[in-house]
Amino acid sequence: MEIYLVEVFDYDLVIVGSGLAGLRAAIEAARIGKGKLRIAIIAKNQLMRPHSISAEGGSAAVLYMDEGDSFDLHAYDTIKGSDYLCDQDVVEFFVRQCPIDILELEHWGIPWARRNDGRIAQRPFGGHSYPRATFAADRTGFYEIHTLYDTLLKYDNVDKFHEQFVYDFLIENNRFRGVVAFDIPTGQIRIFKARAGIVATGGLGRLYGYTTYSHLVTGDGLAIALRRGMKLKDIEFVQFHPTGLVPSGILITEGVRGDGGILRNAKGERFMEKYAPTKKDLAPRDIVSRSMMTEILEGRGFKGPGGLDYLLLDFSPIGAEKIKEKLSQVREIGAHYVGIDPLDSPLPVRPSAHYTMGGIDVTHTGFTGVTGLWAAGETACLSIHGSNRLGANSTSECVVFGKVAGEDSAKWLLTNSNSVDLSEGDKKYAENFLADAYRDKGDYDPYEIKRELWTTMDKDAYVFRNENGLTEGLKIIRGLIEKSGKISISEKGNVYNQNLIASLEMKNLVELAEVVVKGALERKESRGSHFRTDYPTRDDDNYLKHTIARRADGALNISYVPVTLTKWKPEPRVY
Ligand SMILES: Cc1cc2nc3c(=O)[nH]c(=O)nc-3n(C[C@H](O)[C@H](O)[C@H](O)COP(=O)(O)OP(=O)(O)OC[C@H]3O[C@@H](n4cnc5c(N)ncnc54)[C@H](O)[C@@H]3O)c2cc1C
Repeated sequence: MEIYLVEVFDYDLVIVGSGLAGLRAAIEAARIGKGKLRIAIIAKNQLMRPHSISAEGGSAAVLYMDEGDSFDLHAYDTIKGSDYLCDQDVVEFFVRQCPIDILELEHWGIPWARRNDGRIAQRPFGGHSYPRATFAADRTGFYEIHTLYDTLLKYDNVDKFHEQFVYDFLIENNRFRGVVAFDIPTGQIRIFKARAGIVATGGLGRLYGYTTYSHLVTGDGLAIALRRGMKLKDIEFVQFHPTGLVPSGILITEGVRGDGGILRNAKGERFMEKYAPTKKDLAPRDIVSRSMMTEILEGRGFKGPGGLDYLLLDFSPIGAEKIKEKLSQVREIGAHYVGIDPLDSPLPVRPSAHYTMGGIDVTHTGFTGVTGLWAAGETACLSIHGSNRLGANSTSECVVFGKVAGEDSAKWLLTNSNSVDLSEGDKKYAENFLADAYRDKGDYDPYEIKRELWTTMDKDAYVFRNENGLTEGLKIIRGLIEKSGKISISEKGNVYNQNLIASLEMKNLVELAEVVVKGALERKESRGSHFRTDYPTRDDDNYLKHTIARRADGALNISYVPVTLTKWKPEPRVY
């Protein structure tokens, strides 16, 4: 193994991540910069293959006030859906901005589905009291990424770097100075020196074994932020999507239930009528997931492989024509992964880890508190989703707040001419970090550590949680953190060293698992996606507050900050 000398690039703005948030941020920064800013966008895989590309069902926006939708209704649905843990001022801004950004995508060429009258079509989604999920068949993310990438190509002052693995941020005296990465095809170490940065590295879903997330989503940006002393907010709130396909966990979009699909137990009953009499199968995801697990735990599910007991998603009420037109990808997924065409038979499903409500604690513009550093998308916590996100609100958040972060950072750069410098120490640090990562420090197998992490998280930090399970889980995770520092990396080469990448990702995951489980253990109430069987009710007196996790002197500290309420007072969540 050879460690190359560091190669240094010099930019005004470096954007880490090319999902919906990163791409939208890059377009806006380039637009505002008018050719005066040198921008780099980098990602650990191909820029056009971020996890966002797998978004299926839609992006929320109020498009039809003339037909009965309203900003207040979208805000209220989001706030009630969040179990009152979102910051209502940010939500009010968000819902007003969504239609502007959805129409902007239309102007940039996205093929939104149309109604018979030629206007943009929208489908119902869980927890929304108006059909406001704007969609492009069941491949919404795919079309959104392509539209944004095509638009970005219009700007020639944005350099694009594929397959760069970022392993640290350079921050000194609370001032961002760039990121440290290696070029995956060659192992070449690179410093992207920059006056400003935007972290858009997505969520942390691969903490779980049974998940809808792609293998890319390993919380790298979040873990680096934590190590660098930044604050993570509300990380214990992980969303479990009701319809993960058994046994892979792959997503079957909520659009299926939006278009009329029904969940049934082993007795053939439409059980959601019992748990959410009004919204039924289209109640918010936390409620549907809990109802499903109750059915399974009370013996009304089907026995599944490896303990993955399941229920059925029945497509028959949708009708063949509509399934073929609007849910073609879901049909392909059924046929490929379980050999079932949902036109003929229902699909086996159970709740699957799907979304990270928390993230890096940021202001309304995505500013992280570190001078020159912003965050956007699933990595950031603007407190729009509180303890439970409504479907279709994330892709909209990525474009709305990707744009805001791009604009804010670009304006800041244009008015602040101060430069940042690198020292020889920075280069040495970058080299030593990677050399150290290659070095055998023990016998533990990184893949074995990840498997143990998955088993623990799937068992102890799933839909239902309790003190005993979380305490046991925390103990195991702390043991895994220790083991993660004593691993051997079997592959020593520079070219596409997948063992090295997997080990760095594993280390990030185990450190974040501690934050999820510790936050969950200390929140002694049930709210949104976080349900404690030993504290089964919401406790607004003691826990209507955001969790802040921060690492200082090696210890993980948990504290709390208030939630911003504007005009919606917390009330019981009945659907
Ligand atoms: C299967 C599925 C379907 C979904 N469908 C919907 C939907 O219909 N509607 C909706 O609103 N939401 C949906 N969501 C949620 C939504 O898709 C995501 O929240 C959103 O796309 C996240 O976008 P992002 O830009 O924040 O990050 P991502 O799309 O995850 O992009 C992260 C980027 O960061 C890069 N990166 C990460 N780590 C590193 C590193 N160490 N070094 C360099 N680069 C790095 C990656 O390469 C990637 O480019 C869905 C989620 C899933 C799992």
